[in-house]
Amino acid sequence: MERLSMYLHQDKGGLWLTESERDNLKLNYRIKEVVFEQQSRFQHVMILDCYDFGRMLVLDGAVQTTSMDGHIYNEMITHLPLTLHPDPRRVLIIGGGDCGAAREACKYRQVEQLDMVEIDELVVQACKAHLPQVSGNLSDPRVNFIYADGVEFVKQAKGKYDVIIVDSSDPVGPATQLFELDFYRNLHHALKEDGMMVCQSQSPIFQPEVMAQTLGRIDSLFPHTHMYWAVVPTYPGGMWSFTLGSKRPVDFDRCANFDKEATYANKDVLSGCFQLPQFVKALLDEE
Ligand code: SAM
Repeated sequence: MERLSMYLHQDKGGLWLTESERDNLKLNYRIKEVVFEQQSRFQHVMILDCYDFGRMLVLDGAVQTTSMDGHIYNEMITHLPLTLHPDPRRVLIIGGGDCGAAREACKYRQVEQLDMVEIDELVVQACKAHLPQVSGNLSDPRVNFIYADGVEFVKQAKGKYDVIIVDSSDPVGPATQLFELDFYRNLHHALKEDGMMVCQSQSPIFQPEVMAQTLGRIDSLFPHTHMYWAVVPTYPGGMWSFTLGSKRPVDFDRCANFDKEATYANKDVLSGCFQLPQFVKALLDEE
């Protein structure tokens, strides 16, 4: 019998991925096939073919993106800053190994150069080969793949970028420092004087402390900070937050200019996503 990784198990119902999110929560996904599996220097990388969710990228047992709902997260982390920034020519993506955010960013003609700093080349290779529904087999010449630690990379980049997108995994392993104040300070320095950054800031349902702390850290550095959200079914809690920090006031009327082909994003979603439910406002007020 085929040897299964510690994240998979077989029972009479078939093959399952068990995502152990928290002490009291385990999520099981029924799997049709293990399409790709390899241990990199940084993490265990799998592409699974699942019932209901299609192809799925799993890193160290944690679901990162799927062909069913990856577009929601990737559109929302990308189209907000690129629509709200008046002239996004130089863009940096940190993480984002599934290439979905880069694929969305390439829809902007103004973007001249897109540096994508991903720590793990294996994630990019696996997603390009086995997850084209998300990566789109990205081959746009403006995309400059840099395989390095984003934490170190931003220390060297001063006043270089119009927009920085932090598309990181959860704050464990190599991504831990991507949620720290020093990292956000270096991001601030890496942006031009009208620059804007966005990061995923976890779920208000299951990680309210990380969400509030992330907003607080970015707010301590940027004069204009705004939180927005989207529904991503495969992320525990479903509701996912993003934090945007800007050096210049944000012109929300620019959402009305949104004209890209998208599945989740549209003008109304872009302008409405900054409206926070009462419990989220309360969580942020406590910080
Ligand atoms: N959308 C996903 C989510 O929220 O779960 C995350 C997408 S993407 C797969 C996250 C990427 O961040 C991974 O490919 C991981 O290798 C990369 N990453 C983690 N730590 C990093 C670091 N310090 N520098 C650059 N990339 C990093």
